[in-house]
Amino acid sequence: MKTTTLFPNRYVQGADILKDLGTEVSRLGDHSFMICDPFAHENLLPNFITQIQAKHKITVEEFKKECSDEEIERLVTLVKESGSDVIIGIGGGKTLDTAKAVAHTLKKPVVIIPTLASTDAPCSALSVIYTQEGTFKRYLILDKNPDLVIVDTKVIAQAPTRFLVSGMGDALATWFEAQSCKKNFAGNMSGDVGSMTAYALANVCYETLLEYGVEAKLACDANSVTPALDHIIEANTLLSGLGFESGGLASAHAIHNGLTALESTHAYWHGEKVAIGTLASLILTDKSREIIDTVFSFCESIGLPTTLEDIGLLNVTDEELMKVANLTCTEGETIHNEPSHATPEKVFYALKTMDAIGKNRKTNR
Ligand SMILES: [Zn+2]
Repeated sequence: MKTTTLFPNRYVQGADILKDLGTEVSRLGDHSFMICDPFAHENLLPNFITQIQAKHKITVEEFKKECSDEEIERLVTLVKESGSDVIIGIGGGKTLDTAKAVAHTLKKPVVIIPTLASTDAPCSALSVIYTQEGTFKRYLILDKNPDLVIVDTKVIAQAPTRFLVSGMGDALATWFEAQSCKKNFAGNMSGDVGSMTAYALANVCYETLLEYGVEAKLACDANSVTPALDHIIEANTLLSGLGFESGGLASAHAIHNGLTALESTHAYWHGEKVAIGTLASLILTDKSREIIDTVFSFCESIGLPTTLEDIGLLNVTDEELMKVANLTCTEGETIHNEPSHATPEKVFYALKTMDAIGKNRKTNR
């Protein structure tokens, strides 16, 4: 059986490690072009730019939004003019995706520096391209994963906790989706079947969330870097990244995509909607009462959504939920990686039941 496993080339995580960026990036080239989101440009860069420049030549350019073909083209031209041989992206998801796409176009090494632990995208060989107006346009599959991913835990601890919790929602799906893919011999993001390594990492991701999630959330509330926070940042960024990309996606992310059909969910973040998708997937895939109870309790303990009301769907109609269910089951969606045949009706029932369980638990608490 052919399996493919995808990894970033090097992953470095720790407090204050942005100060070592010059040393780290010098392994890849002599002159870096840094694409920086406005927040990082104003608040982070001044703290470490002198240390980097002592060891490495760097040109800084602010990300102008969106992660669009136009912005990528603008930055590609600037990189060529600067003569840089390494691309660095620092900031949120769209800045990082843009940096990956620019490096892919120019066939240069890329360094990814997430300033949030809110999704598992940083380590992956994927960019999401939008129009200039911010509408989804297409996925860009890259030839390779980032050459270097650097996560400064102090930066993550300073960000609002909701980002970290949302990242745990995204990471929560990983093990369940990988399990379904494994059972069904379904392809991962490369199209090939996942390896034992990928499934084992997806499992560690889940165990880490259950063990350290609550403590890490509280540490982040107190803007404090602790071992528990370290573990959760690693689970959200590296374990979940390796787990989803090499293990594969299934119903949780497909339900997330379905939920985006309803305007009122747009105020909620990727990981928050993935958490709802994960809870519904437990019903859909007939998990034991014990697992359902564990996952609901986990979500409640860190403040992830557990009812449709929690993601803006207080008065959602059956017709609207069917719209979500239909979109979830579109041809090519990852729900078809599930071992049992998924239909819109089954998804609809899973969402209704998940909501009923969530509500019931809230009233009985
Ligand atoms: Zn995700």
